[in-house]
Amino acid sequence: MLNHTDFHTDLSASILWMREQPAKASAAPASALAPASALAPASALAPASALAPASALAPAPLSAPALLLLLPLLLCFVMFAGAFVTPNPVLAAVIAPDDEDEERYRRLREQMVERQIIARGVDDRPTIRAMRNVPRHKFVRPAEQRRAYLDGPLPIGYGQTISQPYIVAYMTQLINPRPDMKVLEIGTGSGYQAAVLAEITDQVFTIEIIEELGDWGEQNLRNAGYDKVQVKRADGYHGWEEHAPFDAIVVTAAADHIPPPLVEQLRDGGIMVIPVGSPFRTQNLMLVQKRGEDIRTRNLMPVRFVPFTREEE
Ligand code: SAH
Repeated sequence: MLNHTDFHTDLSASILWMREQPAKASAAPASALAPASALAPASALAPASALAPASALAPAPLSAPALLLLLPLLLCFVMFAGAFVTPNPVLAAVIAPDDEDEERYRRLREQMVERQIIARGVDDRPTIRAMRNVPRHKFVRPAEQRRAYLDGPLPIGYGQTISQPYIVAYMTQLINPRPDMKVLEIGTGSGYQAAVLAEITDQVFTIEIIEELGDWGEQNLRNAGYDKVQVKRADGYHGWEEHAPFDAIVVTAAADHIPPPLVEQLRDGGIMVIPVGSPFRTQNLMLVQKRGEDIRTRNLMPVRFVPFTREEE
């Protein structure tokens, strides 16, 4: 690590080296570097007392103006070489590969939003803004990062997947998310859907049945700065009683029926989106709306989700 102190040491070492190489200095006389007239007189740049007299340097000495020309060059060389030899934090920041990657991912994300989401008819502004903001590449396994913005689901381990971006956007838009809403998600997985919701509201609760995935999803959320999302490791079939009622519930695993506790925990006027059907076959994405005792369901489109599993009771 080249800190400022080391840097000065290196510089003075180089100056010393110059002083100890009279033969080289005499081989290239000062006049060969620049005509004396082209240089500002030393006195204009620094007090004469700050400069060593040329005669002190070598038998065929560098003139003071030539030294003044060399010093900045030397400085540049030391800084430049230092950037490659040692991880100089100041210079490294200028050419940091991390920044390049982030910029590349930002462009890919923009393309994803334009081509996969807006082009397919998602037009809810908060949803689009959220899809633009969430760094999806931080919610996949390192081996999948380059594929994070492709038009499909990706494996996240334990036989589970992060949903296709379009499906996430479509389900988010369906609940008409707004900043004052309290939302419950069942199936945290990578944490990506929860992050998209958290871009819109501070009240996001998510439940994951596979403990390790719950840990990973929560870590992804924290790493990406979504500190307020609350994550629970449990069977989401039972919902999250103590935080009910919810304005909306998003279920991201396919159940063979709509879990009654989830309907129960919807507030009056609330909405739920849930894939229903047999596992490993095409299921139906369903919209459930609660109006008092009246529960309305509507089939929206065929989808394929990983199965909604149950904890042994
Ligand atoms: N929303 C996730 C999608 C993950 S896939 C994302 O954005 O990445 C669905 C997840 O639901 C899986 O992680 C699976 O383990 C979980 N799951 C399945 N049944 C569940 C249940 N009964 N309760 C909670 N989570 C469940």
